[in-house]
Amino acid sequence: MKVTDCHAHLADARIWEARVSWMADCRRNGLVGALANAAQFDEWPRVMQLAQEAPEIQPALGIHPFWPEQWTAEAKAQLEQHLKANEITAVGEIGLDFWNGRENQALQERAFAEQLQLAVQYGLPACIHNRKSWQEFFGILKELRINELCGYCHNFTGSKETAKQILDRGLHISFCSPVTYPEAERLRRVSAYVPAERLLVETDAPDLPQIPYRGAFSYPWQTVGVVKALAKTRRIALEALAEQIFNNYITLFSTSFQKR
Ligand SMILES: [Zn+2]
Repeated sequence: MKVTDCHAHLADARIWEARVSWMADCRRNGLVGALANAAQFDEWPRVMQLAQEAPEIQPALGIHPFWPEQWTAEAKAQLEQHLKANEITAVGEIGLDFWNGRENQALQERAFAEQLQLAVQYGLPACIHNRKSWQEFFGILKELRINELCGYCHNFTGSKETAKQILDRGLHISFCSPVTYPEAERLRRVSAYVPAERLLVETDAPDLPQIPYRGAFSYPWQTVGVVKALAKTRRIALEALAEQIFNNYITLFSTSFQKR
């Protein structure tokens, strides 16, 4: 079975030193592609290093909405340099998160809009994080006159209506461990609404472990559990859905695969 993970923080300091060991687990379990997202600026060199070390890993650089102050002139210049050199597969993780309030809303919106514009300008997929911010997210797309966007919304847990809005913009939708939780019937129904060719799966490693791995870190090969939950809901064979999701992964990131 072809295993992919479109969203993993593989340069996270908590799992970095053990990477030889968990990459071996990933390979044993059939991992063929994982997108290594950055969250903070100091992870960028590690993301690039990992992509050099492991051909299964595709690099994405960006500043997560938890740290909008890290979107500095220096970060912007570095991101542009990597984009110009065709060295990265996607821009991310970027987005808006008002879970902890809106004190830095303006700063978040600026960091997001500027990074998104660079992704669009260079024709790369955007890895998008949104929490309590859908209205503002669609507002920014409108402001920037972006009708169609290449990329995905990660760890989707929203409604069917929000899923429709995302799909209408051309984006893919990625499901993570929440779709495997026993109580997540509503979310599984939403997942069945997403067309198969727009589905992606992720771990958000090293966080959000599935139930059997609670208390430990998560790793990219564990998307198998997410695919299982989606396949069961859709009443289709696990292998067939894994193959479809692998094709989606390749299609979405293909432009940059070719560039690299
Ligand atoms: Zn993430």
